Amino acid sequence: MDPSHPTPHSSPFYRGRFAPSPTGPLHFGSLVTALGSYLDARAHGGEWLLRMEDLDPPREQPGAADAILRSLDAFGLHWDGALLYQHSRLDAYQVTVRRLQAAGLAFPCACSRTEIADSSLLGVGGPVYPGTCRHGLPPGKPARAIRLRVANDEILSFDDVLQGQIRQHLAKEVGDFVICRAGGYFAYQLAVVLDDAFQGITHVVRGADLLLSTPRQLYLQRLLHLPTLIYMHLPVAVNTADEKLSKQTHAAPVNDARAPALLFQALEFLRQEPPPELRRSTVAELLQWGVSRWQPLRMEGLPTLKIAFE
Ligand code: GLU
Repeated sequence: MDPSHPTPHSSPFYRGRFAPSPTGPLHFGSLVTALGSYLDARAHGGEWLLRMEDLDPPREQPGAADAILRSLDAFGLHWDGALLYQHSRLDAYQVTVRRLQAAGLAFPCACSRTEIADSSLLGVGGPVYPGTCRHGLPPGKPARAIRLRVANDEILSFDDVLQGQIRQHLAKEVGDFVICRAGGYFAYQLAVVLDDAFQGITHVVRGADLLLSTPRQLYLQRLLHLPTLIYMHLPVAVNTADEKLSKQTHAAPVNDARAPALLFQALEFLRQEPPPELRRSTVAELLQWGVSRWQPLRMEGLPTLKIAFE
């Protein structure tokens, strides 16, 4: 199957990206992801693009997208090219969902979350879909979501730069997964795959909370004949209660006025061991130091790291 849109750029050797969801302002965890992906791109002499993943209006916070842009600017994390908002890509997602359905690779599903939870085993990211609507909707039940059909013997594997080899038996550990959610919202897994290809991304650097989503994305890339990317999943910042920093765990927004101090802490978190004299540096100096000394393998095999402050 052809991708719904051709890539507008030809890919250089390295094109990375940061893809925040505007569910709240940047916090230390998302700053670390932004910085890690920026340093990896710049250390490779590559480009670094920005995509606003505004796919989930009910979870979004008014003003969050602009606050994220202001913070990136204050932290000196300047992106290349035009910022892509996912809300501008809805037609491309729709065309792909229709094509997948027409090819018999996706099907409508009438099950509610509770129905699925009641009749399934637990997989990597929640209950494994039991296949209820695979061969047609139950009589009289309307479609709620669209799911991608996963072949029974599909084992996906890839070599993550930091986390090593990851293997997933997609049918047993995930099952047929949602590409269009109830309410007509497109799913992250579909949009991220289409947009990484659309933007000509070659390298994905993001938090290890998305490590086990990657096989779903590889599967979609294969079905859609899109290029395979190189993945590096950074340790996720957790608080002292071992919870991922997020809006749900009340992570504090980064204070743009303290950008140099926070960048220093983010470099320490990424195990880059910035020397104490760098504490008095500007954001530009900190970033320059970070790019020239970038050694991501210092974080090898660490899925989470506690932050030293809260
Ligand atoms: N939008 C996702 C998030 O903020 C990140 C997606 C990705 O990097 O693939 O968690």
